[in-house]
Amino acid sequence: MNNVWEEAKYNLKQAAEIMGMKEDLLERLSTPMRFTEFTIPVRMDDGTRKIFMAYRSNHQDATGPTKDGTRVRPDLTPEEIKALSLFMSIKHGIGNIPAGGGKGGIKADPSKLSEGEYERLIRGFIRKLKPKGAWVDVPGADIGTGKQAMAWMLDEYEQITGMHCPAAINDKPAVLGIGGSKGGFEATGWGVAMCTVEASKEMGFEPKNTSIVIQGFGQVGSITARTLYDRSFKITAVSDINGAIYNDEGIHIDELVIHVEKTGTIRGFEGARTMDAGLLLEKDCHILIPAAVQDVITSENAGRIRARLIVEAANAPTTPEADSILEQRGIRVIPDVLANAGGCIVCDFERIQGLSGDYWDEDEVHRRLDKRMMSAYSEAKAVMEEKGISMRRAVWVNALEKIVEAMEIRGWS
Ligand code: NAD
Repeated sequence: MNNVWEEAKYNLKQAAEIMGMKEDLLERLSTPMRFTEFTIPVRMDDGTRKIFMAYRSNHQDATGPTKDGTRVRPDLTPEEIKALSLFMSIKHGIGNIPAGGGKGGIKADPSKLSEGEYERLIRGFIRKLKPKGAWVDVPGADIGTGKQAMAWMLDEYEQITGMHCPAAINDKPAVLGIGGSKGGFEATGWGVAMCTVEASKEMGFEPKNTSIVIQGFGQVGSITARTLYDRSFKITAVSDINGAIYNDEGIHIDELVIHVEKTGTIRGFEGARTMDAGLLLEKDCHILIPAAVQDVITSENAGRIRARLIVEAANAPTTPEADSILEQRGIRVIPDVLANAGGCIVCDFERIQGLSGDYWDEDEVHRRLDKRMMSAYSEAKAVMEEKGISMRRAVWVNALEKIVEAMEIRGWS
């Protein structure tokens, strides 16, 4: 399979077969309900105008307003955006979030833009997209966008509509009048860690004797590492784009976080040794957590992975071919659409808080997030055991059953 949209549709088809989904519904879910492609003209600092391609995919809205992130990267493809919008439908389904799947993106390299150019690009995205608000389509953040970008998006949207609408944009800073939720930054890593703890218990792993290897030490990888380290798990190797380090006795994660804050990379950390980053995924360990980029576990390396459990923090880190190999080898996989759903659960909380004007403290957000993550995990596990299928298939089946139920009761089939 040569692209992530084909892979996403493959997962959809596999689950549809298990469920016996009606042909017309499968056809409807195999293409986004709406896909918008548009251009954003941006005035550059040197006075020239540059045109950037942008996309927004609304996968389905039977289960609620479409919701989620805006990715900005130079080699972005429309297929990637379509796939991610389908993933969002599944994450919202398994998380019992009343929302459909949405994803947007701009083909641009933020590192090559000045702050002013980047701001004009982000504001241009909202002006050209003309999102219709909290009850229709809610853009959030993804790779290449963060809290500042989302605050600009909200401001642009409110200038266009002439009213305050904090629930119209997600992933905003938790600043008075801007409407972000507390706990949003940690949510995805926290959810990944919760799934890891739960699966470890089932597999009889004792935290202090359990070794974990993590690929990627950004927002998700570092929070996952810290949360698991605080629960006495041994993080024995980590990597980032610059390389990989290991310490079989366990890396002191609090010290590593300080080192990364100072230097911007895990490289040069004194409490661990350097290793070949190409061999990180194959390192002997109990649990492997890919938390960097897609398609890193492939048919080429799946046979050499030594972990007994893989928790997919990144989106689509495992190709379908590799997934079959892992299943045959009895390696358990907690799939991305469940493991990294914590972020979209807190986005749902952000929208609820924005609509009600009642903002929660961090403990309240964590309490609700734990409950939602654990109930998503238990639902997936129950389907897995009842149908004798992998957890990936179970999550897709569980989410799609809810989507299909909403479509049918609306009279769409
Ligand atoms: P990030 O940019 O903060 O961190 C990415 C990390 O991966 C960095 O440490 C980077 O150096 C490293 N990296 C990049 N390429 C690498 C490579 N080839 N090998 C090893 N390391 C590499 O991103 P993030 O927000 O932590 O997201 C990580 C993954 O999780 C992505 O796949 C993203 O789509 C997914 N995800 C993130 C969220 C979220 O809330 N941030 C939610 C759902 C899914």
